[in-house]
Amino acid sequence: MNTFTYQIGNNLYINLTNRCSNRCTFCVRDQSAQYEGYSLWLDNEPTADQVIEEIGDPTKYDEIVFCGYGEPVYRLDEMLAIASHVKRRGGKTRLNTNGHGNLIHGRDITPQLKVIDLVNISLNAPDRAMYDRLCRPIYKDVAFDSVLFFARACKASGVNCRFSVVDCIGDVCVRKCRELADREGIPLYVRKMIDNTK
Ligand code: SF4
Repeated sequence: MNTFTYQIGNNLYINLTNRCSNRCTFCVRDQSAQYEGYSLWLDNEPTADQVIEEIGDPTKYDEIVFCGYGEPVYRLDEMLAIASHVKRRGGKTRLNTNGHGNLIHGRDITPQLKVIDLVNISLNAPDRAMYDRLCRPIYKDVAFDSVLFFARACKASGVNCRFSVVDCIGDVCVRKCRELADREGIPLYVRKMIDNTK
């Protein structure tokens, strides 16, 4: 059975797609067939209406989070339709993205993301070489720079955004990421690596 939405704590997570332009070495989906007891591999992707129906009253949750197993911006139209609906109903949304949205769509999608309350951009590494090694992007050599361009475009478009890194990259790399984020004038969120092998 497909899991299009799943609750963790008081957040509801939306699983729009399993497609991703990265193949991160630390990705939870490679560690186990399940995540937090949910089976997140999809046989088919949901429509916006299916997700909206499953959400019900969005104000029951702290946040409605576009997340994965996959990169949500592959489903940009559906994601925006759901986010607009949630906003109209008084709920809050967050997008967890790898920041490849402009590469994937071949244009600047960031003005459309203003409807989302928080866009979390996975920075993951302080430089291109480490990014390519850790995240194994299909857009090798250009992905890291494009994540920075995407973040700058978000900021210029008035999108509330932050970078995130996983603590497994080590203290020195986290410090370099923080310096980079400071230079960009964008907050950095350091998150714990998820161990999905238990
Ligand atoms: S960007 Fe996210 S979903 Fe894609 S491989 Fe990396 S951790 Fe997994």
